[in-house]
Amino acid sequence: MNDKKQSLWLHYGISASIVLVTLLSVAWYATDRFHDFFIHQQQETLESRAITVDQAIKTRKTNNACHVLRTSDPSLRVTIVDTLGVVLCDSEADAIMMENHAERPEISQALKGQRGSSTRMSETLQTSMLYLAIPYFKDEKIVGAIRTAIPLLSIENLLDELYRQFVILLMVLFAIISMVIINIYRKINQPLDEIVEEARRYAKGDFSNALPDYDIREIAELGGALNQMAEQLDRLENLRQDFVANVSHELKTPIATIKSYVETLLDGAQHDPADLERFLNIVLKQNDRLAAIVDDLLTLSRLESAPVTQILALAETDACQLLHASAENCQSRAEAKNITINISCNENIFIQVDHSLMTQALVNLIDNAIKYSNENKTISLSVEEIDKQVLLSISDQGPGIPEQHIPRLFERFYRVDKSRSRRIGGTGLGLAIVKHIVHIHGGQVEVSNNVTVGCRFVIKLPQSD
Ligand code: ADP
Repeated sequence: MNDKKQSLWLHYGISASIVLVTLLSVAWYATDRFHDFFIHQQQETLESRAITVDQAIKTRKTNNACHVLRTSDPSLRVTIVDTLGVVLCDSEADAIMMENHAERPEISQALKGQRGSSTRMSETLQTSMLYLAIPYFKDEKIVGAIRTAIPLLSIENLLDELYRQFVILLMVLFAIISMVIINIYRKINQPLDEIVEEARRYAKGDFSNALPDYDIREIAELGGALNQMAEQLDRLENLRQDFVANVSHELKTPIATIKSYVETLLDGAQHDPADLERFLNIVLKQNDRLAAIVDDLLTLSRLESAPVTQILALAETDACQLLHASAENCQSRAEAKNITINISCNENIFIQVDHSLMTQALVNLIDNAIKYSNENKTISLSVEEIDKQVLLSISDQGPGIPEQHIPRLFERFYRVDKSRSRRIGGTGLGLAIVKHIVHIHGGQVEVSNNVTVGCRFVIKLPQSD
């Protein structure tokens, strides 16, 4: 997988190359423009010099027109030809010795009445020259051409120097860009490598390390998110370990009890009919306890494993009817302790609930109220509508719950009085199940002690529209 992915280096390399190519193009273009501009300037100068020569001839100031500009412009070469291209004079060479110039591009152009210009090696002077020729008129007829020229060497030297400096500048720029890129790469990749390492450690279940706070905001956010995730995972892992330990502990006691009674029976107690029945009843009770724990664990795991939408079969339900149905379910256990269940509610308060799950939550709470109340007490159920919420409450006249236990009461296997809970067949999971069911309905469950006696559990659910 790794070799298919491109390293950040590649991206940096591409960016650097793009920058370099862009800079080179800019340099090349700028030098080219500068060259054109320079040649154009020189052409203008040459043309104005040619006009000066033209005027000098016209005003007959001189007999040696080619030498007119000798003193003011020593590097300037002036050549005058007739219509046939025969050189009449030249400031640098002997005209008689010179070949016919009619074919020189600038001169042939000028003899046609236009301004002509060209750059080439001068055969006469053996150096690269810029030429410019204009037609020379007499009585409105072309009688020849005046050509001015300067050596190009100086321009080319200048451009070469300019280009050289450009290249140096480019190299410096490229070095700076490379350094910046390497720096950015380090700044990004080093933390990224650390983060990858850290994630690998998490995968192995090692959450001991925390990532530092990085300078770059995006990476710091990634590091922060990863640290948060590690904390969560660590917490979950601890919860899971606690849970497994708790489950094992809860299961161990009944299993050990069953084993010891069965052994006692096998050791001879089975022959005493009174012992036989007593011990078998104990075994049966422990077995029921195991079954209850396993049932509750299965319920919890079902509530947790599937996505909420798959578990919940929501239906518009009359809250009052729900209370009646739940109370009905607990009726026999209440009667066994001569406990009265009062229900006070107005019909027509509707909630969106999964009927069977919400009944299970209510039954758990009513059963607790029955379990932890003494005989002949009363349990009150009610439905109220407050602030767009529907409150289902179960109030009892039992021992209530010491304040310090309230914050952890809904945790799995948390019990206020362990031995009492076990004695009356509690699994320690009832309230955890209630909390879960209420949560997946988008509600909360709370508990408070009554002012006089007992406690009150309240399930708060959003009102259905
Ligand atoms: P259990 O199976 O032990 O009843 P629960 O999760 O249903 O487990 O309840 C957790 C603990 O909360 C109980 O062990 C008990 O100490 C306390 N409790 C629950 N309901 C009541 C109540 N109505 N009155 C007093 N204590 C209660």
